[in-house]
Amino acid sequence: MSILKVARMGHPVLRAKARPFDRAEIKAPVTQKLIDDMIETMLEYHGVGLAAPQVHEGLRVFVASLETNDDGDPESEPMAVINPEISIVGSEMVEDWEGCLSIPDIRGRVPRAREIKVRAFDRTGARIELSAHDFPARVIQHETDHLDGVLFFDRMRSLESLTFLDEYSRYWTKD
Ligand SMILES: [Zn+2]
Repeated sequence: MSILKVARMGHPVLRAKARPFDRAEIKAPVTQKLIDDMIETMLEYHGVGLAAPQVHEGLRVFVASLETNDDGDPESEPMAVINPEISIVGSEMVEDWEGCLSIPDIRGRVPRAREIKVRAFDRTGARIELSAHDFPARVIQHETDHLDGVLFFDRMRSLESLTFLDEYSRYWTKD
């Protein structure tokens, strides 16, 4: 496995629409290696999600740690989500802090749907349907946005909450 270079805001790959996988491509060694490398890269940089455009690959796949404990720390192995299609459940929006490995050391408050359902393929090519709310739903929406060239700044209602990580830790975390 290898740690991949992460594209930073300003690289055009982050603004392009990624292409879907053919189901037959999913099991190909090149795809499996990409997924393994994305997981290793995400863990190396302490991310909770990483989308293929962030490692310069215009493909509709992201990896994410979607099960977390009460402190928000990952509890299970990261999973790959391929060709995700999100449906929003209900109309409740929640605003909370987000960061992005492509926008280092910045946090901002982003409104997201509280509850979603996701249809996708997993890394074996099996169809999956996930239900998610709150933090994992936020991660899935953030990562799926990357597949459409959308960054979290684009979703903010106002840029007023933009904060560097040091100041975030100093003024905006409870502990
Ligand atoms: Zn991101």
